[in-house]
Amino acid sequence: MENKGLNKVDLIFEKIDNREVLNKAFKMSREEIIQEVLESGLKGRGGAGFPTGLKWKYTAAEKSPDKYVVCNADEGEPGTFKDREILERVSNKVHGGMVIAGKAIGAKKGIVYLRGEYRYLLPKLMIELEAFHKMIREIGFDFSIEYRMGSGAYICGEESALFESIEGKRGEPRNKPPYPTVSGVFEKPTSINNVETLVTAMMIVNHGSKNFTQYGTKDSRGSKVFSISGDTPTPGIFELELGMTVLQFVNEFGDGDTKAVQVGGASGFCVPRKKFAETIIGFEGVPTGGSMKLFNSSRSMYNVLHNYLDFFAEESCGQCTPCRVGCQQLLKGVEKVKKGEAKSTYLTELMKLADTMKIAAKCGLGQSVGNAFKSIVGNFKEEIIY
Ligand code: SF4
Repeated sequence: MENKGLNKVDLIFEKIDNREVLNKAFKMSREEIIQEVLESGLKGRGGAGFPTGLKWKYTAAEKSPDKYVVCNADEGEPGTFKDREILERVSNKVHGGMVIAGKAIGAKKGIVYLRGEYRYLLPKLMIELEAFHKMIREIGFDFSIEYRMGSGAYICGEESALFESIEGKRGEPRNKPPYPTVSGVFEKPTSINNVETLVTAMMIVNHGSKNFTQYGTKDSRGSKVFSISGDTPTPGIFELELGMTVLQFVNEFGDGDTKAVQVGGASGFCVPRKKFAETIIGFEGVPTGGSMKLFNSSRSMYNVLHNYLDFFAEESCGQCTPCRVGCQQLLKGVEKVKKGEAKSTYLTELMKLADTMKIAAKCGLGQSVGNAFKSIVGNFKEEIIY
């Protein structure tokens, strides 16, 4: 696997002339915009990694007169706080990415679904949005953006639950298909993109796809913003080129005693020290929506796992049995093993349950519980048992 090393990049927060970039986008045809984003190889920065250009292409192909661009700003993954920073510092680039997406797919309306806990950002965002609307009308765009607030449910970060919430319903995932590109919010073709994805798309239009593809690897083009927390002397937001190993990351951000890195938050993977050197951070190794938590030897991995399982049991929407019951059983199961009320071999049964959840749960929440469970139990079994 390609190893690009650890390189700091300044793309997301780079100061640009928004009007100039949007003027450029205005003069491009929708096909040219989609082609540029396709050639860049940009994959969604929320964690799932679907190619953005393809998403735009599919939504553009729908014949509906009403389409939507939805910006997913429901940043709820434990350990992730980069979208908040992006909205605080460069909201006009987020809005700019939405306008460009709107032009590409043929939409006139955009909705930002903002995490409930970020409500305090709203007054400033409204002022910036008003000036932004004035600017794009002067350029000639027929596009408007509104904000809708979440109420703190983790599941509303799942795209179809987010649509339900926008529509004023209980935030629960829908059956798929149809996919959002065909029937999204208000049952209209919708391109739903993460905050960072939209900014990256705007920067691709600004600099060109060739510039973007010089960063990252074949499977993970470009750079991304990481939210770094845990046992580190330098917590915060850092934009890094994709394609570094976990070891290179730990050498830069660790405290000299890092025993594990949780890549991708509670729904991501735990990488133990013995695998730092061989694990690439990116879609070919361990993908992440941005959350990077470092744990040193003072931490109990049982407590880390228990914390995640408690979180999932609380946040499961309860709609499907594998997740509703599975989350509870995994939580109770590790508690029993820890207390000596179940044999250590019971962990093998729990691993099988995690596998079943991956294939039987209805949405990404239930399907991803096993990522943290299996990687922590598999690599730190002795800490779970004793
Ligand atoms: S997997 Fe969990 S969160 Fe998703 S629909 Fe089923 S119960 Fe709800």
